[in-house]
Amino acid sequence: MTDVYYPEALRELMEHFRHLPGVGRRGAERLVNALLEWSPEESFAFGKALSDLHSHIEKCPSCGAWTERGSLCRICADPRRDASLLCVVETMTQLIAVESSGKYNGKYLVLGGRISPLDDETGEGLNLRMLRERASSGEVTEVILALSSDVEGRATTVFLTELLSDLPVKLTRPALGLPAGANLSYADSATIGAALAGRTGV
Ligand SMILES: [Zn+2]
Repeated sequence: MTDVYYPEALRELMEHFRHLPGVGRRGAERLVNALLEWSPEESFAFGKALSDLHSHIEKCPSCGAWTERGSLCRICADPRRDASLLCVVETMTQLIAVESSGKYNGKYLVLGGRISPLDDETGEGLNLRMLRERASSGEVTEVILALSSDVEGRATTVFLTELLSDLPVKLTRPALGLPAGANLSYADSATIGAALAGRTGV
């Protein structure tokens, strides 16, 4: 462990960075050393942006995507979007991936995670009530379950199919084409566009 040579304040910062996805001990060390090169003004602005995060951002009350506190997200607020289509994704990263395909003009529901079949989860913590409310609003005619094609994504698709089975909406999922085991966020936009265009019933 070389961390002990760093002053406490730097070690603490490294610990925070190590909580980020894809950042190991070495990566955290590099990030902290890079921050030491910043001017005090830049560091202050960075710290402020971080500390303001939770007071400025919250989940959109209509779809669960991140939005400015107190307002609907841009997609929910956009009257040009087709409100009869509801695309269910696991995370906001996946929403952005679908958006970047440029092939979808409906609305979204961000679940906020997925079911883990091994843990026998019940979907606690997911935006399931929000999903049912949206799907039963009368406005939505088709719900697209655009979840990952790995085990957890498939388990979540089965779970949601059950959850929405009594509602008068068409349930579809993107056509095959997403690599098995891959997270939707990693698929390229052309693949996502083609998969959405060729969606099938669940
Ligand atoms: Zn929204």
